[in-house]
Formats: sequence, structure tokens, C-alpha cells
Amino acid sequence: MTRKVAFYGKGGIGKSTTQQNTAAAMAYFYDSKIFIHGCDPKADSNRLILGGMHQKTLMDTLRDEGEDKVTVENVVKTGYGNIRCVESGGPEPGVGCAGRGVITAINLMEEVGAYTPDLDFVFFDVLGDVVCGGFAMPIRDGKAEEVYIVASGEMMAVYAANNICKGLLKYAEQSGVRLGGIICNSRNVDNELDLMDEFTEALGTQLIHFVPRDNIVQKAEFNKKTVIEYDDSCNQATEYKELARKIIENENLVIPTPLAMDELEHMVAKYGLMS
Ligand code: ADP
Ligand code: MG
Repeated sequence: MTRKVAFYGKGGIGKSTTQQNTAAAMAYFYDSKIFIHGCDPKADSNRLILGGMHQKTLMDTLRDEGEDKVTVENVVKTGYGNIRCVESGGPEPGVGCAGRGVITAINLMEEVGAYTPDLDFVFFDVLGDVVCGGFAMPIRDGKAEEVYIVASGEMMAVYAANNICKGLLKYAEQSGVRLGGIICNSRNVDNELDLMDEFTEALGTQLIHFVPRDNIVQKAEFNKKTVIEYDDSCNQATEYKELARKIIENENLVIPTPLAMDELEHMVAKYGLMS
């Protein structure tokens, strides 16, 4: 059974980085078969797996060469750990709706049978905290069944996570999508772990892992690698290995209960003012 997973969260919080490192850890330590479908018009979802952003996006191929050239051979690239990768791409900047590209790209990949049954995971790497239009499509239309929200103790990251939960709540019944947990990608905010514990409990979910902030992530990134490939014995690689294991074993899938705005503000302020 292939599990279809999406990471959501505020822009710049570390979705693409965390997803690629987790996928690399799944492949390297647990022999998982992975497909990463990049749904961000920036097309940077697979840079660390492929060792650079050299691939032509699916939308480029569609635009330049036509629909019959959108085949597995033409648009799917294999990278580290045999992870298969595609980038949806988008329209030329300022022209057309990027959200439509996400829908088109996922439907085309389904039509050509790119998500083969041997896969353990298909990851959808989406754009920022946008839960409207095309960007909501993975959760709205049942393309992603399991969502992890990447957050930190920073106020805007917590707000974004809560808003994403509102989107999940809205679509859960029609699409079957469930929340698998919150990943704290630490920003070294005061009382971050305590805030995340209370926040995740209020949402009715779990803090699946606390990923420390570590400069080795950037160092590996400069080398166009995940930390798993860069140094499989470093502490950060062990953190991603832990997150990978927890996701593989996770059975805690819920419909979240988002917080009211005043409740959320009170919670964030309580920990923020404590230090
Ligand atoms: P998103 O996909 O959510 O927009 P990215 O994955 O592109 O965010 O991450 C933004 C930046 O944060 C990247 O340059 C990455 O190196 C950095 N980053 C992410 N996670 C960590 C971490 N745990 N420690 C240090 N830097 C990190
Ligand atoms: Mg990203």
C-alpha cells in the first residue's frame, strides 16, 4: 500500500528541506521506495535529492512539447536512494494560475501511471501555507491522505499551522484526508517545546518529532545534498532517521480541532512572555 503524504506549513519553515531529508532517511535506513512530487512553482522540492535543480518541469514539457511528451521517461528523474522525483513547475511568472498547474500535473502523473504500486510513499511538497485553489487540491481531492504540518514556536508559524488545520477540517469528510502530526522544525524560540506540546494537544494531534536547528543542514544544502547523503553519522541525520521511523510507524491519524483566534493568541503569548 502506497501512503500519500503532504507536508504543509508556512513558507520558509523548512517543508522542502525536512521532506527531502526524511525521504532520504526512509530510503537509506529503512529501504523505503519513495516518489516526491514537487508542487511548488519554485520547483525546488527535489534539489537535494537530485543534486541540483536541473530538471525541466512537467509544465515546461507540457507547454513546449505537448501532452504526449509528458511521460514517466521524460519528466520523472531518479536521485539519491532511488527516490523518483517530478516537479510540476508553473506558468511563466505573472502569467496564469499556478494552482491550476498543480492539478494538471498530479492528474497527468496519475494518468501515465507514475505512482507505481511498489512505492511505500508518495510525498507532495506544496507551496507555503496556501490552502486555497489549486494548492489545496492535494488535500481537497484526496490526492494526499496524510498530512504533516511543519511548524516552529514562532507566532506566524503557529498561526499558519492552525489555519492549515482549518483547511483540513473543512475537507476531511469529503476527501478522507487526516493529520498525522506536527513536526517542530526548531527556530530556537524560548519555551518552544512546551508551546508545541500544548498546541498539538489542543489540536488533538501529536508532536511527532522535534527537529533541532543545525547548521549542517545548510552545509549539506550548499553541497546540494541531504544531510543523510552528506554525513550519515552526524546528529542531524539521526534526527531525520527518527522522524522517518515515526512516520513509517505512525497510526495516529486524526481530524484536527483548530483553535479559536483568541485561544491561540493567549497560548502563544503565555509561552512568549514566560522567559
Ligand atoms: P519551505 O519549503 O518551507 O519554504 P525550505 O525547506 O526551503 O522551506 O527551508 C528554508 C531554509 O531553512 C533552507 O535554506 C534550509 O537550509 C533551512 N532549514 C530548514 N530546516 C533547518 C534546520 N533544521 N536547521 C537549519 N536550517 C534549516
Ligand atoms: Mg519548499
